[in-house]
Amino acid sequence: DEDLALLTGHEDEAPYSAAPRNLPVVAVVGRPNVGKSTLVNRILGRREAVVEDRPGVTRDRVFYEAEWTGKDFWLVDTGGWEDRVQGMAYRVAEQAEVAVSLADVVMFIVDANVGITTTDEQLLKVLRKAKVPLVLVANKVDDQRGELEAAALWNLGLGEPHAVSALHGRGSGDLLDAVVAAMPEEGRGAAADHGPRRVALLGRPNVGKSSLLNRLAKEQRVVVDDIAGTTRDPVDEKITLGGKEWTFVDTAGIRRRILQAQGADYYASLRTRAALDRAEVAVVLLEASEPISTQDLKIIDMVLESGRALVLAFNKWDLLDEERHKALEHEIERDLAHVAWAPRVNISAQTGRHAEKLVPAIETSLESWDRRIATGRLNAFLGQLVAAHPHPLRGGKQSRILFATQARTRPPRFVIFASGFLEHGYRRFIERRLREDFAFTGSPIVIGVRIRE
Ligand code: GDP
Ligand code: GDP
Repeated sequence: DEDLALLTGHEDEAPYSAAPRNLPVVAVVGRPNVGKSTLVNRILGRREAVVEDRPGVTRDRVFYEAEWTGKDFWLVDTGGWEDRVQGMAYRVAEQAEVAVSLADVVMFIVDANVGITTTDEQLLKVLRKAKVPLVLVANKVDDQRGELEAAALWNLGLGEPHAVSALHGRGSGDLLDAVVAAMPEEGRGAAADHGPRRVALLGRPNVGKSSLLNRLAKEQRVVVDDIAGTTRDPVDEKITLGGKEWTFVDTAGIRRRILQAQGADYYASLRTRAALDRAEVAVVLLEASEPISTQDLKIIDMVLESGRALVLAFNKWDLLDEERHKALEHEIERDLAHVAWAPRVNISAQTGRHAEKLVPAIETSLESWDRRIATGRLNAFLGQLVAAHPHPLRGGKQSRILFATQARTRPPRFVIFASGFLEHGYRRFIERRLREDFAFTGSPIVIGVRIRE
């Protein structure tokens, strides 16, 4: 169970709940039905990811944390994308483009029994152009007879075709050895503990991301950090603000409009995820002059799911009139109550209004995100809280809170030990009071519960 996992130190298995780590990203690419998902399951060993009790947050399982011979990496199942873009013309080449823009290594899967199809060729065209290391996988080689078909794939000029059976496991160890060998030491992801803090500017199209980036970068020495010396996305920029250097991640995705085609929304959301992966704090831009949309809320949900620190920036404040201002206050109360803890800044990227308030807000959020509460202080707080507001009785029985500790930071994660039971509402109450008393402004906090019978 979730809480047990916390205690035994396996909580890193939860995608996105861990602090940003600079892990390489391995994408599994191939046309439908070649066995991508089967292979991903094989690699993960059908390990269940930890599911957190966070209402309103849906996890779609596309990024997984995986490990082989002591090397950790993110495993991206592009097969999961197919389900998400169903109902529209699924563009296999786009899938490959997005995959290579996110990945440090691509596993290209072919069905050895079928051989190379025209769809495979389409994919290959994209993959060859990119400079990402490719590992060729000949799947569905369930027994020795299939080896011959697999060997025919040497013709592709992509090096050794690794014959595997994703279904039965045959050859998968050798394949993973090859993948690990092709992996860089570090991924393009966030370096957690050193270097400038990493910021992702997020928001729906036209909300003003690139205008804001340009404003922030104005008269700055902007260092374009061309990752791994290639020309492929994403690109980070270092910008000095408030006397400090900051890294803005995936600015290529902000400045350039890629993948305008059908399905662009979905790919934009993948891009958001990837940017979050690499960031420590997200600045979500909302359009103050227009109603808060479901797309805005989805982006905020993605930040919550990622466990990153959050700042809400209401842009285009120059367009606001009195009436819209009132409506906005109402919308904030109604739609953003679950992130009432996030600092809000009202800005205009165009006029520069209040742009200087952004950095202090980001700093506040990061401070909360990094904060650690000493166990003694935490238990003193809980002791007082529980004494003043006891857990409601259930069937005449009383739950007892025994002990609590902060298991980790970035974001702060607490474990509460209780006897008997701990009701959801009471857990929320503790969360609210923890927030208030310790001022976790701008950071999600996570509370796990360990029940002792
Ligand atoms: P995806 O669409 O690429 O993710 O493919 P799936 O993983 O869903 O697999 C498609 C089909 O191929 C399923 O019926 C799998 O059971 C089957 N399959 C996957 N890997 C193997 C394999 O190594 N051998 C055999 N015989 N079948 C496989
Ligand atoms: P992005 O798609 O999120 O990068 O948005 P852009 O930065 O390209 O901005 C979209 C449009 O909104 C452009 O026409 C901008 O000039 C305009 N815009 C951006 N910020 C502001 C603002 O603060 N006020 C006003 N009035 N317009 C803005």
